Amino acid sequence: MRRKQFDVTSEYAESLDAADKLAGYRERFVISDPELIYLDGNSLGRLPKATITQQSEAVRQQWGERLIRGWNDGWYDAPRRIGDRIGSLIGAAPGQVAVADSTSVNLFKAVLAGLRLRPGRKRIVTDSINFPTDLYVVQGAAELLGGEHEIVRVPSEHDEGTPDLDELVRAIDGDTAVVTLSHVTFKNGFLYDMEAITELAHGQGAIVVWDLSHSVGAVPMLLDEWGVDFAVGCTYKYLNSGPGAPAFIYVNRALHGSARSPIWGWFGRKNPFAFALDYEPAPGITRFLAGTPPMLSLLAVESGIAPTLEAGMSKIRGKSVAQTEYLIDLVDAVLASDGFTVATPRVPESRGSHVALRHSEGYRIARSLIEDMKVIPDFREPDIIRFGCAPLYTTFREIWEAVDRTRRVVTDHLYEKYSDERSEVT
Ligand SMILES: *Cc1c(COP(=O)(O)O)cnc(C)c1O
Repeated sequence: MRRKQFDVTSEYAESLDAADKLAGYRERFVISDPELIYLDGNSLGRLPKATITQQSEAVRQQWGERLIRGWNDGWYDAPRRIGDRIGSLIGAAPGQVAVADSTSVNLFKAVLAGLRLRPGRKRIVTDSINFPTDLYVVQGAAELLGGEHEIVRVPSEHDEGTPDLDELVRAIDGDTAVVTLSHVTFKNGFLYDMEAITELAHGQGAIVVWDLSHSVGAVPMLLDEWGVDFAVGCTYKYLNSGPGAPAFIYVNRALHGSARSPIWGWFGRKNPFAFALDYEPAPGITRFLAGTPPMLSLLAVESGIAPTLEAGMSKIRGKSVAQTEYLIDLVDAVLASDGFTVATPRVPESRGSHVALRHSEGYRIARSLIEDMKVIPDFREPDIIRFGCAPLYTTFREIWEAVDRTRRVVTDHLYEKYSDERSEVT
């Protein structure tokens, strides 16, 4: 996407925007304050304008007028219909993805199903930079099965940095039942080689469960081709489906006969409206559903993912790589002398779509960016400020502005008026 050599001027940022083929997608989102620079689309995506109309229609017509008949007008199939669309973003043929529950709950279903597919094995491999809910879910699943599994957390080279891949290779052995990792790590945006690790785990006979929360909608992937067993992920981050929108679960077709959800709810039963008294798993991905879907937010997933489907993952990834690279170049040129370091891999093949900056005053600087500078990043312990690039609406000019405002926060000592005491949500 580069038209000319990198420089630190805002004109250069504007030339990148002028050459951006995805620039038109920004108009599809609600931008209520153009001065506000939102760099947290990796935590909560922006609101698509179409979702406002869609939600209003869903409430007025679908709920208000159709009432219970809605179930036969498209509600009942929605978890699979919308799942198939997410499937097309992650290289999954139809019939293997369902939208339901939260990422935490789906991970529980997948990990427990995976452990039960490898009953004799007593090792679960994950890493120390995984999202905490993922670690808790693994601990809970192991406890439920009798507490005999050893959970190996592969360490990272620096405390919050990149994983130690040699350790990972050593950790996955013939006693490993499940390997579960986040495709892109939440703190510093490290991107795992999903294909290679899946192959490695399969070489030892283990099941893989990938968490795609920080990669779906930002990084292309080929789950079927790479033979992934299970995957889960959020829809409210890069897929712009709204706070707490239902998550998704992928189960490879090869496992549809053998894998079972640990939650035996009626929506996962064969023919639920027969109201039979005993559970029998539904065929296919349906068995991983549990209960009645939250229809309004499920329908918001349908309108939320539409711009991503339209733009296509390869263009999105192209812009994401260009934006994160531009951001890293700017940090090196403008912020390094003020004590900032880049904690995200510099090679694009190992990087997702957010960039982590470390600074000893990271918390207070992030506060000042939000309160004084109209820049919304987020902060992750102990010293990381995350800048997320959401290719559908983030502009190069915004990235330039965010770096410039960050520089001012430090050189004008604006952050010093804030206390280091953390708020409840950071
Ligand atoms: C955001 C995120 C989650 C959140 O899970 P919820 O159940 O939606 O709260 C889980 N795992 C990873 C890797 C995430 O990035």
